Amino acid sequence: MLKRLRRWLEDRRIKKMGFTASEWESAVSDWPVIARYQGAERDALRAMTFRFLARKNFSAGGDFQLTDAMCLKVATMACVPVLQLGLDWYDNFYSIIIYGDDFVPNRVYRTDDGVVHTNNPGLSGEAWLRGPLILSWQSVCQTGPDVRHGKAGNVVIHEFAHKLDMLRDGANGAPPMHPDMKPGEWHDIFSAAWERLQSDSNHHRALPLDGYSLTSPAEFFAVCSETFFEDPDNMKAQLPDVYRLLCQFYRQQPA
Ligand SMILES: [Zn+2]
Repeated sequence: MLKRLRRWLEDRRIKKMGFTASEWESAVSDWPVIARYQGAERDALRAMTFRFLARKNFSAGGDFQLTDAMCLKVATMACVPVLQLGLDWYDNFYSIIIYGDDFVPNRVYRTDDGVVHTNNPGLSGEAWLRGPLILSWQSVCQTGPDVRHGKAGNVVIHEFAHKLDMLRDGANGAPPMHPDMKPGEWHDIFSAAWERLQSDSNHHRALPLDGYSLTSPAEFFAVCSETFFEDPDNMKAQLPDVYRLLCQFYRQQPA
């Protein structure tokens, strides 16, 4: 009953927003990944994007001028990972804040040497546990198979992957598993891939992913997810077991 009421209210809001298919097409036309979704799948992605916009609150950080086209594009990138999972996977947060450029969080932080800093480095994106998701529009525009030190990158997919990861025991690189998946297999394969890349990095060998992935298991999952959608052929060739598990998790086969 509540679910039906929610849907009815959302449908009304979607109608009121009044976005058209052609507005959506022009907002996403410069994102090559979108070409992978055709026919009924493309219609489903567009419909999910409109519903996402009805459910979430977008706001601008600083004095940035946020447009409808920007919201449509970010929402579409956010919906691609959950296209086969459902929008309810994003029910654990409400707000998306978009800055024009990299943003500087207003908080103190401590580096490994124990020094407390108040002048923070700029960030391209950030996802808070049960809090908002923050993005820099400049980074949203820099997506593709070679944008991160020559490796695949998509800051929107990266931050939303963190949100999926956080659904189970916080951000630890293991999102909730589907009933047909084995959590032990996920742990073993991701750990083995992590160790291989760590060793490649220590020996200055070329990595299949951006080196930032080796910061923590949570970053490893987020960077693998970006690569899975932005450069799937490369991921399938270089990390076939991780690719196979991501196919099972996202229920998509982008390569
Ligand atoms: Zn991250």
